[in-house]
Amino acid sequence: MKIIIIGGVAGGMAAATRLRRLDESAEIIVLEAGPYVSFSNCGLPYRLGGVIDDRAAVLPRSPEWFALRFEIDVRVGHRVTSIDPRAATVTVDIAGTGQVDTLGYDELIIATGATADLPPTLVSDHTFALRTIDDMDAIAERLDRPDVRSVVIVGAGYIGLEAAENVRRRGLDTTLVQRGPQIFPALDPEMVTAVHHELVEHGITVLTSTTVHRVDRTQVTFDDGASIAADLVIDATGITPASALAEAAGLRIGAGGGIRVDGLHRSSDPHIYAIGDVAEKTDHVTGAPTLIALAGLANRDGRAVADAIAGIGEPTAPALGTSIIGVFGVTAAAVGWNETRLRAARRPHRIVHVHPSSHASFYPGGSALAMKLLIDPDTDLLLGAQVVGRDGVDKRIDVLAVAMSAGITASGLKNLELAYAPQYGSAKDPVNIAGYVAENTARALVRTVQWHELAGHIAAGASVVDVRTPAEYDSGHIPGALNVPLDEIRHRMDGIPAGRVIVHCQVGQRGSTATRILSQAGRDVTNLDGGYLTWLAGT
Ligand code: FAD
Repeated sequence: MKIIIIGGVAGGMAAATRLRRLDESAEIIVLEAGPYVSFSNCGLPYRLGGVIDDRAAVLPRSPEWFALRFEIDVRVGHRVTSIDPRAATVTVDIAGTGQVDTLGYDELIIATGATADLPPTLVSDHTFALRTIDDMDAIAERLDRPDVRSVVIVGAGYIGLEAAENVRRRGLDTTLVQRGPQIFPALDPEMVTAVHHELVEHGITVLTSTTVHRVDRTQVTFDDGASIAADLVIDATGITPASALAEAAGLRIGAGGGIRVDGLHRSSDPHIYAIGDVAEKTDHVTGAPTLIALAGLANRDGRAVADAIAGIGEPTAPALGTSIIGVFGVTAAAVGWNETRLRAARRPHRIVHVHPSSHASFYPGGSALAMKLLIDPDTDLLLGAQVVGRDGVDKRIDVLAVAMSAGITASGLKNLELAYAPQYGSAKDPVNIAGYVAENTARALVRTVQWHELAGHIAAGASVVDVRTPAEYDSGHIPGALNVPLDEIRHRMDGIPAGRVIVHCQVGQRGSTATRILSQAGRDVTNLDGGYLTWLAGT
């Protein structure tokens, strides 16, 4: 069997090596347009910032290594220019030779990844995307120049944020520009505030709701006419699946430009498969095709497509989009859908915010986590989750991702038995605590309102009761809130106005207790989900 793989990085090389492990007799050819294979795109920003001090570290493997270890024929500088599904051939341009080759295949895997969208307004001789080793080298060469002092990064998704952090590490004037109203749209606005503050505290100028109009020699001009200096511009505005080859070959392409595949990664042609950023995934929440560009999925599906070709394939699990980013010590992670997306799709959901400590509060070094669950109100299943903090974020998002894919309900998180010693967690892990709150709201033991609903409730006549201590109240409170500390509430009920009452504390826990006390006293009471902290972060 002769298998050709187009694209030799995450998905392509995972498929190639798995195929070899399954079949010693197969002929496996990898055609890679660029000069490198199997490099670590995810490491590129950290090489720019000097966190990775050895360039070779992001280039772990060579074609020779793959030939020796796996007898895989890796051909760099080989760009596939067309696919003929009827003849089962690909046409290849060989860089620097003017030579064109035609190769036949029994099975073809397209793993061409994605290309950066460079908006015409950003085009200049000092605008670079950050996707390849060549991009990284070109940016590094500019950053090393003494006359390069100011850098503008356009796009505040995870690549833009990582680029901004690493450019700033080099001491350069760094501006991050985002067209939308918030950075890192994977997270909801109230969850991303801590990341935004961290960037600003480290000297990065963050411009949201700002669109670049044009890039001149050393100036970036915005739509409102303002402009700033930019010796270098990094484009992180987004990517598009590199599916032009597949489209020209007549393969079915989805609305977002990804190659449509079935559960075994087979395209509309039975001998052509597609994986990685170029291929659609199945969305865990809806079961519909979606695009998710992440390295874990590319590697997972690289292995899975090899299994499918070898005849031992299993339908691939839907994709959750579990992602994580760290900037200057703050970590933000997300899985599934966020509230912004659920609201836009008018999909019913319940929300839980909690702010537990990353590990036992009596043990030094812990810090607060902000956690948010999005829950299907009918099934109690997780639709998504977000976690932000300085410690233990990765553990919690991964547990939530596993819960989500395993179909564990939000209330069921209370039952998870998670590793605990004081330096790592709590006897009630933050994930368990999120489960307690989820269960309380699912059973309507505690009703909640969200931070963005509060103003509407106040306008409709609800009173706000702050159950924190007077000292907490004095250090900042919701306008118009009445301070009745939790420990006094049983004796001061008469002072709480009649009608609808919304109670709150700092993070939601004391508010929950106050809600139980007042509701058992027959009051119409609701807790402000996530407390003052969440309200403050969102407003
Ligand atoms: P790619 O890795 O993009 O490889 C595709 C290859 O195909 C390219 O080398 C290209 O040259 C080649 N190719 C394209 N067209 C042709 C052709 N016609 N002929 C021959 N070859 C062709 N994901 C995470 O999960 N976590 C992270 O922290 C993370 N960080 C990232 C940081 C950066 C800067 C970037 C750019 C990406 C990051 N990603 C991260 C995303 C992750 O790298 C991608 O999802 C993953 O690499 C996709 O793998 P792939 O095999 O589909 O495509």
